[in-house]
Amino acid sequence: MNLAPEALIYELSSPGRQGAALPVCDVPATPVPAGLARIELGLPEVDELSVVRHFTRLSQKNYSIDTHFYPLGSCTMKYNPKVNEVAAGLHGWRDTHPLVGEDFSQGAIELIWKLQEALREIGGFKAVSLQPAAGAHGELAGVFMIRAWHLSRGDSGRTKILIPDSAHGTNPASCTMAGLTALTIPSDAEGGVDMAALKAALDKSVAGIMITNPNTLGLFDRNIEEIARLVHEAGGLVYGDGANMNALTGIFKPGEAGIDVMHFNLHKTFSTPHGGGGPGAGMVGCSAELADFLPGPVAVMRGSKYGLATPAKTIGRMKSFYGNFGVLVRAYTYVRMLGASGMRRLAENAVLNANYLKVLVEKAYKVKYPRRCMHEFVAMGDIAEGVHTLDVAKRLIDYGFHPPTIYFPLIVPEALMIEPTETEDKDTLDGFAEVLLKIAEEARTNAQLLHDAPTTTPVGRLDEVGAARNPVLCYRG
Ligand SMILES: *Cc1c(COP(=O)(O)O)cnc(C)c1O
Repeated sequence: MNLAPEALIYELSSPGRQGAALPVCDVPATPVPAGLARIELGLPEVDELSVVRHFTRLSQKNYSIDTHFYPLGSCTMKYNPKVNEVAAGLHGWRDTHPLVGEDFSQGAIELIWKLQEALREIGGFKAVSLQPAAGAHGELAGVFMIRAWHLSRGDSGRTKILIPDSAHGTNPASCTMAGLTALTIPSDAEGGVDMAALKAALDKSVAGIMITNPNTLGLFDRNIEEIARLVHEAGGLVYGDGANMNALTGIFKPGEAGIDVMHFNLHKTFSTPHGGGGPGAGMVGCSAELADFLPGPVAVMRGSKYGLATPAKTIGRMKSFYGNFGVLVRAYTYVRMLGASGMRRLAENAVLNANYLKVLVEKAYKVKYPRRCMHEFVAMGDIAEGVHTLDVAKRLIDYGFHPPTIYFPLIVPEALMIEPTETEDKDTLDGFAEVLLKIAEEARTNAQLLHDAPTTTPVGRLDEVGAARNPVLCYRG
């Protein structure tokens, strides 16, 4: 069969073809009950080899960290060491059932406990829970904890959460889901929290603040301790969005800088493949005062045995059983492989790589907040008359690079948010910068190349708004 590589499996169908050879039927035939046989589905009739070739061809179109550089800002798309997969696939982890009980899952609970301890140390927390399944899920848990803490003190009037305008969209979403009201705080000229606006917003209705540090501009907010002090003085708590821990591991402990409760995205900072919405894990860590409110169960040590316990005033479960255990195994393997000194070098190299790339890219792209960055930076794609960030992103695809995060954070117009991570080498960074500079040159001399991009992919420039508004989700012949 010789079809275009982008053919759909339905177009490979040919009446009577099949990929399974069933034995001759030796029991009486019974018709399928009416209503169960859905002839109108028109399932494709295909042989095994066509199916294998079809899906193998499709898989080769996949873009992944194992094939290419993936500078997607805020996502920390680092290389995932294969030893993590070996560890997560070990029979003892993979095949254990969550209902076998504590006595028969000592090893699994020990791993959870040891990972809790390692993350507690990295973040400077008093207690942690590995229940949440993602960063946003950890945010939700944290906001529930903040609300529960206020209520436990009989303070039911605190209904607002302050959120800087550079925050990830999940922050206001989590806050709203938890029944609180998000109040936006502007950024100052340096890209940090506007201190005057913060002070003006603090009153008895404020439950707390959600803060990302370094923020999504890739900038460390030097006022973090002062921000925490002011919020605490006003009776509120400080939530830390830890998605950017890649800049801080082994260097800065948020729990010691006034953060009361925080999530880590284990699938970002501590590896685990996470493109395409695969499973994640969102540890929540907190101060002694909030420890009783953590979601449970959490792993504990009782003498020489490991066990599971539910914190006294828990907000409840965030997830069935013990969270996404496979991701916990990967994170534990990663932490143990790097060790304490490796954790520090991780952050140092992430920051070094981002600053190196920033200096190269700045030759042709503006950076709105040009001070030294942490693990990522935000450039701007309006490099020539009529050229937009979207054009730059699409043209990068023609050169074999995954585009950075675009149009986020919202406070930078034409944002190109670039995060190289610590796992890329100098050659890759040089190659990426060279292509970005070449695209800037094209933008000046022949902008049509950018407007037409991508031209090397099976389909060209898509109507992304149309696709989102009027999705076509099934085959229509
Ligand atoms: C990724 C990210 C989140 C959300 O984390 P998920 O694991 O995707 O739910 C929140 N805040 C920031 C800054 C992020 O980069």
